[in-house]
Amino acid sequence: MTFNTLVTGYADPCLHAGGLYIGGKWEAGIGIPVLDPSTGNTLAEVPDAGIDDAMRAVDAAEAAAAKWRRTPPRQRSEILRRWFTLMTEHAEELALLISLENGKALTDARGEVAYAAEFFRWYAEEATRIGGEFRHTPSGAHNILVDHEPIGIAVLITPWNFPAAMATRKIGPALAAGCTVILKPASETPLTAYAMARLGEEAGVPPGVVNVLTTSNPGAVTAAMLSDPRVRKLSFTGSTGVGRILLAEAAKSVVNCSMELGGNAPFVVFDDADLDAALDGAMVAKMRNGGEACTAANRFYVQSGIHDVFVERLTSRMAALKLGVGYDPETQCGPMITTQAVEKIDRLVAEAMSCGARATTGGAPLPGSGYYYPPTVLANVPTDTALAHEEIFGPVAAVYRFETEEEAIRLANDTEYGLAAYVYSRDIMRAMRVGRGIETGMVGINRGLMSDPAAPFGGAKQSGLGREGGITGILEFMEPKYFAVEF
Ligand code: NAP
Repeated sequence: MTFNTLVTGYADPCLHAGGLYIGGKWEAGIGIPVLDPSTGNTLAEVPDAGIDDAMRAVDAAEAAAAKWRRTPPRQRSEILRRWFTLMTEHAEELALLISLENGKALTDARGEVAYAAEFFRWYAEEATRIGGEFRHTPSGAHNILVDHEPIGIAVLITPWNFPAAMATRKIGPALAAGCTVILKPASETPLTAYAMARLGEEAGVPPGVVNVLTTSNPGAVTAAMLSDPRVRKLSFTGSTGVGRILLAEAAKSVVNCSMELGGNAPFVVFDDADLDAALDGAMVAKMRNGGEACTAANRFYVQSGIHDVFVERLTSRMAALKLGVGYDPETQCGPMITTQAVEKIDRLVAEAMSCGARATTGGAPLPGSGYYYPPTVLANVPTDTALAHEEIFGPVAAVYRFETEEEAIRLANDTEYGLAAYVYSRDIMRAMRVGRGIETGMVGINRGLMSDPAAPFGGAKQSGLGREGGITGILEFMEPKYFAVEF
């Protein structure tokens, strides 16, 4: 398939949308170039919203809010369900678009579209099951009634690594709860967000319920929205560094925050693990999205007895992956998102190698256009290098040797992050014990993939606050209201 055919796919009138989306209207504009990471070419340009545009989006979300919160849950549910159906019908065009602007391999992009759409289906179902609570006071003399109300206007900020799924994981529960939203997608991948909004419009989302803004000045634009008393919620997915800035900003107006931040996942393999299953899991946990995932296995801790064979077999699997243009159907690992991303990986790997790590495959960026770093395995990695402590966010598997269960837990916890961990052992009691000992919000036991719309996704420590997905995800967009009732 040629590049031009793919661009024709992008130009599908159903999906192609240009401009800010405010109050149900499209406003054309330019200012932010969108690059194709596979080639470095410019794909499109999207508008650069300023503070005035953001305040108009808040006005639009406010104008739609009262009606939307009173819209019967069944009706909200049916709109989300139609949006799910439309995403499914347009899955192939959306996958091409994601691959074009993000660079991920088409198979990963297809997987993302299916995963992203499921959040609309799941929250279409949850919209009709929002519960409350009734109980007697301990004295038995009074009653406690707890209702859940939509929290209000929500600002949603998403990263580039899952441009569709990070948006639906927020929009789905927010709309199901009865909130109106302003979505600010990452500047690298706005086209997917605009295409999704177009489908939302077709699904019957009323004007102003979902607004989409792109900006090159996210700090000032977000600060302005958070200081508006009508905005009651910030749901952010991105790096821990930006999360800290936004928490400080939100504190000024005490805006309710959900934070899905960075990760540094340990992948622990015991001697008694099913080696084939562990390798399968390792490839998924490391290489989904070319390693650009918050749940990506960053640190492989392998017990001495199988360490060498694990390194050897992981090396041959990684070396066999086909690296190339994301939207080439043969590609298994696409480019990184930017040239800066490649430089960061290069810095981490070079420093580890200067301290004694050995590359068994890969180990240096590839020259030429596009932002390519090859699948890499590093053995003998010292635990005091930056590679062990920073998010790699690329196709680099760093392998460390360990001896005892206690050592594995100590090493796994030696990080400020606490998002995801993986444990492989045939002894389920041990796997659960180790899983409990690791301080993360999520643990894969003999599994390399944990994301599921029905599960509570989120982190401990500096990986975040709150959960997305599952039955808890909708409560992040609701305010409990307690009625002390005499009857
Ligand atoms: P990022 O640099 O933190 O950016 C995320 C979003 O925040 C983008 O939309 C960005 O806009 C915006 N932003 C940047 N600075 C801002 C500011 N001062 N105020 C308001 N918004 C601001 O993260 P990224 O590089 O896009 O994504 C990778 C990170 O996300 C990794 O750390 C990864 O682990 C994390 N992540 C976490 C999860 C999870 O569920 N825990 C899921 C996916 C990714 P611009 O693009 O315009 O700069």
